[in-house]
Amino acid sequence: MAEIRLAHVSKRYGQAVALRDVTLVVRHGELLALLGPSGCGKTTALQIIAGFLVPDEGEVWAGDRLISSPRAVLPPERRRMSLVFQSYALWPHMTVFQNIAFGLELRRLPRDEIARRVAWILEVVNLGGLGNRYPHELSGGQQQRVALARALVVQPDTLLLDEPLSNLDAHLREQMRFEIRRIHTETGITTVYVTHDQAEAMVIADRIAVMNAGRIEQVGTPPEIYDAPQSHFVASFIGQANCLPGTLVGPALVRCGGLQLRAADCRAFRPGDDVVLCVRPPAVRVRRTAGAAAGDNLTVGRLVQRAYLGDLEDLRIALPGGVVVRAFVPAGQRYEPGEELLVELPADACRLVRP
Ligand code: ATP
Repeated sequence: MAEIRLAHVSKRYGQAVALRDVTLVVRHGELLALLGPSGCGKTTALQIIAGFLVPDEGEVWAGDRLISSPRAVLPPERRRMSLVFQSYALWPHMTVFQNIAFGLELRRLPRDEIARRVAWILEVVNLGGLGNRYPHELSGGQQQRVALARALVVQPDTLLLDEPLSNLDAHLREQMRFEIRRIHTETGITTVYVTHDQAEAMVIADRIAVMNAGRIEQVGTPPEIYDAPQSHFVASFIGQANCLPGTLVGPALVRCGGLQLRAADCRAFRPGDDVVLCVRPPAVRVRRTAGAAAGDNLTVGRLVQRAYLGDLEDLRIALPGGVVVRAFVPAGQRYEPGEELLVELPADACRLVRP
C-alpha cells in the first residue's frame, strides 16, 4: 500500500513560511499534481515527501508507516521512492542501457534480470532499440524518457516528479504530457507531479492539489477544479474566469456593480455576504440586441475589444456599472468594437466563491 499522507505539515526557511498546515492524501495508484504559481511551496512539499527536508510541524505517512516528523525522518534511500527533476541528470559517459541499469546493479540483481527489466522499461517509454546510444545522441524528449525509465525500472512504490518537462520546447512538452499519462496508466505507480502549468496538470493528473502561498486551496479531479472552484484564487488560476466582486442580496441573487445576477449554488453564503461571482468566458453568451427579449442574467453591453484566436474570438464587453467581462464566441460573428451586444451570464455557469 503506497498511499502517502501529509498531516498538518508546516515548513519555514528562517522567516519565510514555505508550507502552512498542509494536509493531503495521495491515493494508492493515483497521479496527483501539485499545481501552483512559483514560490507557493510545491517543491518543498515534494522534498518533504522524498525525505530530503524535515518538516517543522506535522507528519508524513506512507501507508501505515510514519516516515517524517520533526523528531524522526526515514532516509530517502529507504522510502522506495524515485525522484525525477527538471534536469535529466543522465551520466554522459554511460549508454542509455547503462544509465537505466545502474540502480538495479546497485541492488545487485542478476545480470539477466537486469537485462529483462531494462528491455521492458525501454519499451514502456518508447525507446526500444536505443539502449546503446549515449545521452548526447538523444533529443531532449528522449533524454527525459531515459530519466523516467531510470526512475521506474527500480519499481518504486512512489514516483516523485518535479517539473520534469520544463526543459523541453512547447511542442514536445505537449506530446510528453500524453506520454506521461500513458506511462502512468501502464505502470500504476503512485505519483506526485509538481508543475506550475495548469494545462499540463489537467492532462496528466487524476487529481490536482492547487497550492497558493504555502497552503492547499483545493483538491479535486480536473473537472471538479475547473467547474466548481472553491476560491477566487482557484477560479482565476485554473483557466480564464470573469471574477466579479459583489454582495449576496437575496437567495441566489447577487449584486455586482450595476447588475443583479442569479448564481448557481449559494448554499454556502448568507444574504449580506461579500462574494465573488465567477463565470468562464466560454459560458458567456453574446448576440446582437435587435429584437432581443429581457430575462434573467441578461444585460446590454458595449464591445470594447476583440481579438481573433482562429476558431474563436475573445471579446471584452463593458457592462453597466463599469464591469468588463470576457466572452469566447465562435469566430466569424463580425461584432465591431463600439457595437451594443446582448450579454447573458447563464445562472448555472455563475459560481460564487469567497473574496
Ligand atoms: P517554483 O515553482 O518556483 O520552483 P515552488 O512552488 O516549488 O516554486 P518552493 O521552492 O517550495 O516553491 O519555495 C517555497 C518558498 O520557500 C518560496 O518563497 C521560496 O523562496 C522559499 N524557499 C525555498 N527554498 C528556500 C531556501 N533554501 N531558503 C530560503 N527560502 C527558501
